[in-house]
Amino acid sequence: MIYLDNAATTKMYEECADIYKEYACNSFYNPSAEYRVALEIAKKINQVRDLILKKLGASKGNIVFTSGATESNNLAILGSKRNGKYEYIFSQGAHPSVYNVANELKRQGFIVHFVGLNSNGQVDYDKISSLINENTRLVSVIHVNNETGAVNDLKKISLMIRQKSKNVLFHVDGVQAFCKIAFNLDELDVDLYTISSHKFHGPKGVGALYVKNINALKPIVFGGGQENGYRSGTENVSGIIAMGKAIEMINIEDNYKKIESLRNNFLSNLKNVEGVKITAGQSPYILSISFKGVNGETLMRALQDKGVLVGKGSACSSKKSGNRVLESMGIPLEEIKSHIRVSFSELNTLEEVEEASKIIVNVYNDIREKIS
Ligand code: PMP
Repeated sequence: MIYLDNAATTKMYEECADIYKEYACNSFYNPSAEYRVALEIAKKINQVRDLILKKLGASKGNIVFTSGATESNNLAILGSKRNGKYEYIFSQGAHPSVYNVANELKRQGFIVHFVGLNSNGQVDYDKISSLINENTRLVSVIHVNNETGAVNDLKKISLMIRQKSKNVLFHVDGVQAFCKIAFNLDELDVDLYTISSHKFHGPKGVGALYVKNINALKPIVFGGGQENGYRSGTENVSGIIAMGKAIEMINIEDNYKKIESLRNNFLSNLKNVEGVKITAGQSPYILSISFKGVNGETLMRALQDKGVLVGKGSACSSKKSGNRVLESMGIPLEEIKSHIRVSFSELNTLEEVEEASKIIVNVYNDIREKIS
C-alpha cells in the first residue's frame, strides 16, 4: 500500500514503539508515586515538557499533557471560558474539535462569530480585526488547515489582537504545523497552542496544550490533580515519552525540503491532466485535489483497490451538503464533491509518490471513460 493520508495519521517511528514498550512493560510506574523509580518517570515526563517548549520556540509557558488534540482544543476553549458577556471568534477553517466546541459555546449563550476563508484557504484577517472588541475572550484559528494545507499568518492575527485589547486570548490549533513547518511561538505571540502526537509519527491518544499564562486556564477534567491540577488522570507515560522521542527525531527543515520535492513531483505528474484542479496550500504536506466529473469517494475507493490510500478531507466535516472548509473558500459544490486529499510524510519515498501519481491519473481516466 502507498499511504498518502498522513494528515489523518502517521505511522509511528519504530524507535517510538520501542520506547512505548519500555515504559509500558518495564518502567511502568505511576509518575505520582514517591519511590525512586517513579520519580525518574516524572522527571522524564518533565523533560518532554521542556522538549516541546523548545521545539515550539517558547521561552516561557506551560505544557499540559492531554489525550490528543481534540482534548487540547476543548481544554483551551472551555478551560478559558469565564462567565459574563463574552464573545468568541472562530473560523470556518476550524477542525470539528474546535468548531463543535464553538457551537457548544453558542448553545450556552455566548456570542460566537465564525469568520470565513479567502479563496486561498486563509482566514479573513480584516473580518477578525473588525470583530475584536473589549468583550472578546478568545480568538481561535488553525495554523495549517488539515484539508487544504493553507497556512494562516499568526503574527498578523496576534498583532491585530494585541492592538485592540489586552484581554483577548489567542488559541491556535497547531496539529498540522507542529514538527512540520518552522515557526517560533515567542515571535508569534500565541497564548494557547494545540499539538497531537500521532500526526508526527508518535503514538495515538496523546497530545498537549501549550499555555503561556496558566492563570488563564481552569481545568475541565477533575480528579487526582495531575498536571498541576489542569488535567487529572494518570499520565499516558508511554505515550508522552514516545512522543518526546518523535520530537527529538524530527528535523523540521530537512523533512520540509523532502516533502517539498515529493509534492513537486506529484504536482508535475498531475498538473497537465485535463479535469484536475489542485488547491495547493502553503504547506507542502497537504494537497486538496478535485477531479472533474468523478465523485471523490468513488475515486478514493478505486485508488484503494490499486493500492493507494488517500483521504477525502476530514471525515467528520464531509457532510452531505459538501464541505464547510472548501465551501467557505467559495469552491463550487460540484468541485467539492469530486475532491480528495493527498498528504505526505517523511516516510514516503519519491518512487512511491511517482507511482501513486501515475495510478491516480490512470484510475481517473478509467472512471471517466466508463461513465462517459
Ligand atoms: N485539529 C486538527 C487540525 C486535526 O487535523 C486533527 C486530527 N484530524 C485534530 C485537531 C484532532 O486530533 P486528535 O486526533 O489528536 O484528537
